[in-house]
Formats: sequence, structure tokens, C-alpha cells
Amino acid sequence: MTKRKVYVLDASALLNYLSHYSPVLEEIYITNSVMNEIRNEVARIRLESYLRRGILKVRDPSRDMIDRVKGEAKKTGDVYKLSDADVEILALALELMEEGKDIVLLTDDYAIMNLAMRLHVKTKSLITRGIKEIREYAFRCPSCGAFFKLGEEPLDKICPRCGERLRLFTRRRRKLL
Ligand SMILES: [Zn+2]
Repeated sequence: MTKRKVYVLDASALLNYLSHYSPVLEEIYITNSVMNEIRNEVARIRLESYLRRGILKVRDPSRDMIDRVKGEAKKTGDVYKLSDADVEILALALELMEEGKDIVLLTDDYAIMNLAMRLHVKTKSLITRGIKEIREYAFRCPSCGAFFKLGEEPLDKICPRCGERLRLFTRRRRKLL
């Protein structure tokens, strides 16, 4: 018997889903911050109807899970591209997964997909075809080329040699099959 799939949606995926899809997903989870980002009136009405019918559930992840996702995001550099809402949605997906649920995270956000892959959370995009590689970031000085691994960059993100503002760049790409 196959387990029923559970879907976790970020704000853009939810808005997309609410405006273009009939309710084919049986069980959807979102966080409070995702719900609060939906301001479009039609989308809001659909959202409330799904809530009433129990298709859609609102749940916030535990503090512990948020910290775990943040810790991982710091290692990859995705922490600079992710909002608190993004971290929460990933933490919720991870939490549901650890409860034994077969989940898919619907998102079109590259940084979310990147980190999800490292956390072994399955993702699917409603717009793009999903990502084909994992990226790791580092800091580099645009003028002298000084290079800093994540976590080793100066706190003020200013090059100690020439005073330029450091830039985040893709240090390594790993292709996925
Ligand atoms: Zn420099």
C-alpha cells in the first residue's frame, strides 16, 4: 500500500495553486506566515474553504526544527537568501517527514529547493522543472579576489585588504541526475 502524499506549500506555490488549480491535493500543510501572505481576495476565500473542509492545515514547526534548518542553511550560504517564512516552511516539511509522512514541498524558490535537497526533503515546482544541481556559496572580494569560506568571512562583510564590500558567489555546483 502506498502512503498518502502530504504537501507543504510556500506562499508563492500556495497562491499559484489557489488561483490556477482545482483542489486535487488531499492534504496540504502551510505555516501561519504563509497564510498571512495570501492577501488576494479570491485566493483567500478558497483558502478558507479548504481550511473548513480540512484539506488544508495550518501548523508552525517547533523551535528545535527551525534551529536545525537554520544550522544547515548557514553551512550552504542559503541563509542569506532565505526569509524566516522560508526557514519555517522547510522546518515544517522536515518535521512532518520525521513523523513518517510522505511529503512533497511545493515551491518555486531556488534557495528553498537547494536547502530542501540537502535535508532530503522532496520538492516539486509548479512552474519550473525543479533544479538539477546543488550550489554552495562563498564570499569573494570583487576588487582583489580575496576568498572567504562561509562562516570565515569578516562579520562586516568588508574585505580586510582593500575595504571593498564582499560578494556572495557560487563556489561549487554539484550536478544531480
Ligand atoms: Zn579585497
